[in-house]
Amino acid sequence: MEKDIFCRIASGEIPADIVYEDDELVAFKDVRPQAPIHILIVPRKHISKLDDATAEDAELLGRLMLTAIKVARLIGIAESGYRVIANNGPDAGQEVYHIHFHVLGGRRLGPLG
Ligand SMILES: [Zn+2]
Repeated sequence: MEKDIFCRIASGEIPADIVYEDDELVAFKDVRPQAPIHILIVPRKHISKLDDATAEDAELLGRLMLTAIKVARLIGIAESGYRVIANNGPDAGQEVYHIHFHVLGGRRLGPLG
């Protein structure tokens, strides 16, 4: 099976503007930002979508959220505020089928539709 773009970024095969990484996760700037700050956080482990996560992934999912918080502090938007989004499936507009959290900030974000 062809590796998706986030697997390839996580393995270093494709370059990205990485703002944070550790053994389990990589955080990098979205190439098509929807806000002045738009960071994507992906696990190195391939999981296609939230709906495929299991109880075994509980710690990883927790680390994804904690990393969103850490990255927001690193980038300097913890005080001004930010939004964390994870899309699952077609109706949510999930574009890459490898779990990822979006961290958006740097401007006043509108209400969720
Ligand atoms: Zn993947």
